[in-house]
Amino acid sequence: MRSTIKLTSGIAAALLAAGIAAARQPAQDPGPLVRNIRGGLYFVKGGMAFNGFFVYDKGVVVVDAKMTADGSRQVVAEIAKVTPLPITHILITHSDLDHVNGLEGYPKGAAILSSEATKKEMEEAFRDEKLAGLRAYLPTRTFSRTHRLSLGGEIIDLIPVGPAHTAGDMIVFFPGLKTAFIGDLAFVGRDPLIHRQKSGTSFGYAQALETMIALEAETYLGGHNDPLSKDDLRAVLSSLREKQDQVRALVAQGKTLAEVKAAFGVAEPAAGAAGRSRPGLVEIIFLELTEKM
Ligand SMILES: [Zn+2]
Repeated sequence: MRSTIKLTSGIAAALLAAGIAAARQPAQDPGPLVRNIRGGLYFVKGGMAFNGFFVYDKGVVVVDAKMTADGSRQVVAEIAKVTPLPITHILITHSDLDHVNGLEGYPKGAAILSSEATKKEMEEAFRDEKLAGLRAYLPTRTFSRTHRLSLGGEIIDLIPVGPAHTAGDMIVFFPGLKTAFIGDLAFVGRDPLIHRQKSGTSFGYAQALETMIALEAETYLGGHNDPLSKDDLRAVLSSLREKQDQVRALVAQGKTLAEVKAAFGVAEPAAGAAGRSRPGLVEIIFLELTEKM
């Protein structure tokens, strides 16, 4: 009950804030999917993964696509409600399909930036003939170290931090706006998702969280949560570190994977069960620790 009241007053505050923003900028009606964060920076919910865009004096920078071309076309329509300027840059936080498969909904010709590893993963995925149309949207500029853009007087730092969730994760940090897009580098209310098949690692994920926490940022925009605070990231990091420490202690005692999973109450799939699910966090940590030994 208490949380319902809290939630309701939170919504009231958000509506009030939206009302104030609308009063200040009557010409801009970005719609319910879109939330202005600070300055020209917007967060776009909806679709399988959330993304966003930044409006500067000569154009628009989008961060990630939706999973479908239609989803991205909806983002383009929302941008058009805010500004008539064209999309000049597309920044890609990582290669997962819910962040890149809708790229065709964006106009061609923008600069597309990602880490080197993300481009490799996209090239691999787009070999699929069904995704042939996406080959026109491979990154045009890649890097393996922090890459700084300066657009309309705003600095945008593209910070590769993979392998973490995938091999090529990249943070998109706007220091002047104290905001970072973080792709899938934080999940609240569930374990971090680590794609081992894309060389993701739990220890890299923890390192990425440390990097994000060290930024002079107040707002973190991820693919699957409402905007997060630095304290939210600290909580994700401490629960991940705690799990890593617990697994490390069990491994040091010589426990097997089955014993470690049992200690965490992680169910083993029934023998011969069809469609065995991907390894969960405990198993991933165990594998990383034992592979290193
Ligand atoms: Zn992802």
